[in-house]
Amino acid sequence: LPRIVVAGNGQLGQMLSQAGAPMQIEVLPVDPNGDVELGLRPDDVITVEIEHWSDSVSGLQLKQHPNFRNAAALYAVIDRQRQKALLDRLQVPTSPWVSLEGDNLQTQLESIGDKVIVKRRRGGYDGRGQWRWQKGDQPETEWAGECIAEAMIPFSHEVSLVGARNAAGEKVFYPLTRNWHENGILRASVANLPVPAEQQRNAEAWLGRVMDDEGYIGVMAMECFVVDGELLVNELAPRVHNSGHWTQEGSAISQFQLHLRALADLPLITPPVEGASVMYNLLGRDWKPEWLQVPGVHVHWYGKEIRPGRKVGHVNICRADVASLIDSLQALQALVDDDDKVVFDWSIAQLQ
Ligand code: ATP
Ligand code: MG
Ligand code: MG
Repeated sequence: LPRIVVAGNGQLGQMLSQAGAPMQIEVLPVDPNGDVELGLRPDDVITVEIEHWSDSVSGLQLKQHPNFRNAAALYAVIDRQRQKALLDRLQVPTSPWVSLEGDNLQTQLESIGDKVIVKRRRGGYDGRGQWRWQKGDQPETEWAGECIAEAMIPFSHEVSLVGARNAAGEKVFYPLTRNWHENGILRASVANLPVPAEQQRNAEAWLGRVMDDEGYIGVMAMECFVVDGELLVNELAPRVHNSGHWTQEGSAISQFQLHLRALADLPLITPPVEGASVMYNLLGRDWKPEWLQVPGVHVHWYGKEIRPGRKVGHVNICRADVASLIDSLQALQALVDDDDKVVFDWSIAQLQ
């Protein structure tokens, strides 16, 4: 099997390594911004856990390797303008949008609606590089050429689809996951809720269309808004995704293993999902050993320094049925910090 080299050495690379371990698939996360010779081998396969890095010595070695995967998809997705244009071309529904250019930003913004969200084209994540604009507000001149504007969508909730495609064009998907973002950052996900068959079918068709168009190999995620029961795509992530973390214990094949299977050309089968799961993000807070007394609790700690709001770990709570999951959520809720109790209220409400 090839060695899998990951551009980026954060938690996603770490979890890809963990997924490779049982099969002795060597996964090597590296810093793509370093100025060091990486010693890449000709038969390495290169994948990413981040979307942006510099043209450093290491960065160029990764990008120019003959087995660097998904260059086309990365090109299309790392710039929101190109990403929106791709979705439009493939007739995948998204929020109405415009690329902000030149003068007259007011008129351009108004053409989208009274409530608009302005997003930096490049480099934003966890809600950074976004501004809310309302009719009457003064636009920032710096937005021109740097940002897109899209209509504020009055969604009832948010969901995401995680799927994978291999070199032969075979595609598999997990069930839609329901996500709660606060201030642009994911607080929790709930998996395996009943979903209208048409939503799942549409989502798979759209993400499948994107992956086919880009000749994509590996796991890709698609975030969606649900509006009046219909899906509208928010954005794509050409990598394993935070909203797929529940699959580590909520499926016999995690998104990390699925990504490695696709990259190493191992059999790709639909990941079995039984029971129900919640993923709770640890944002700037530590975990406590007593949490492990709660059935179905699995702690994933990234080994990073704790800073306010920073993603430093997550907890998957996975049980065979919804009633047991609610029991575990109530038990864990009693043990977490006060600010996080609301995450459990939200999760339990989704399951009821
Ligand atoms: P990520 O960390 O997922 O990459 P991001 O910084 O790229 O996040 P988005 O996914 O574009 O940001 O937006 C973050 C969140 O902000 C969304 O999940 C949603 O809750 C809210 N949001 C974004 N765009 C819109 C919109 N058009 N209408 C309403 N809410 C929105
Ligand atoms: Mg994003
Ligand atoms: Mg997002």
